[in-house]
Amino acid sequence: MGFENTFCAICGAPMLDGGYMLNENERWLNDAILLTTAHPNDQGIMELDEYWPSPPFGGYSYSLGPYPPSDDVREVLRLRASANGPRFVLEESGDTVTAMVVEIENLKPALSHGGSLYLPMHHFCLAIADRYIQSHSTLLHTTQTSHANGIKCNMSLWNVLYKRLRGKRHEVCNTLPSPQDYYGGRLYRNVYYEPGDDSITAALHRKNPMHIPRLTESLLENLAPMDRNDHRFHSQDWYRQVLCNGEIFPWLWDLDLRAIESKEASGAWDWSRLAFSLANSHIQEPSDTSLQLDGQLRNRRRIWRILSEAWEGDISLKQDELNEARKRR
Ligand SMILES: [Zn+2]
Repeated sequence: MGFENTFCAICGAPMLDGGYMLNENERWLNDAILLTTAHPNDQGIMELDEYWPSPPFGGYSYSLGPYPPSDDVREVLRLRASANGPRFVLEESGDTVTAMVVEIENLKPALSHGGSLYLPMHHFCLAIADRYIQSHSTLLHTTQTSHANGIKCNMSLWNVLYKRLRGKRHEVCNTLPSPQDYYGGRLYRNVYYEPGDDSITAALHRKNPMHIPRLTESLLENLAPMDRNDHRFHSQDWYRQVLCNGEIFPWLWDLDLRAIESKEASGAWDWSRLAFSLANSHIQEPSDTSLQLDGQLRNRRRIWRILSEAWEGDISLKQDELNEARKRR
């Protein structure tokens, strides 16, 4: 049986309606935030920014306007909401809005005003994005690399995401396009959510990526005894530190360091092998056999990878595709 959903703009998994039967582990799919932007008006009161559709072939996504406020005064707002089928009820105002489309009531040939634009996401996915932004600012000169126009702050997160939307009038969109299609999203996602399409990927994408009870335990189960003939450049202590200090693995922010210390005290372990395996970006995939990992951690790695590979304009039409479209017109 199908169920009409909108999908999270960060992770691509469904924003589940509270009426949908959820088990306890899937309640995070119902905890929604809508992102939008605002600026102070002449009286100093915050007003939502207006967006408007791109003119025919004039651009890929919605634009700010028609009278855009200065970027210096704009802010990203986070509005708590709950999914109601494909629409969202804002917690504070009680208003029901449609996300991922600009709804303009008065359709004149020449638009005199735009409309507000909301992007839906899971509360936990936004929390992971906050972690990503924080790690980017502290690790900028160390190990974490990302695109020059990648996600660095709230506003760049907004810019990356909303520019993925095609700026067409009336074009309601349930899934924000993503360059990687959320690593497996297309294998299970239709207009109607059908878990049976690819139950393994669908199940992985629905795993809570934030609170992972077996996080450290699951990692340590992969630790092998050290090969005493192995002479690597860095000591095993160094690799253990790398695992714990968050510089190379900022997505492992909540490791139980005491559990790691007591594991270390219990024998001679090959921390380097574990670190190298964890550095493999494909560990997000359910088919990965290099590590035995909890699916929740694989899902977190997937979301972190999506964030780190994102950049402003990453989904837009290339110039030659745009020229082709003009010719066909
Ligand atoms: Zn999400």
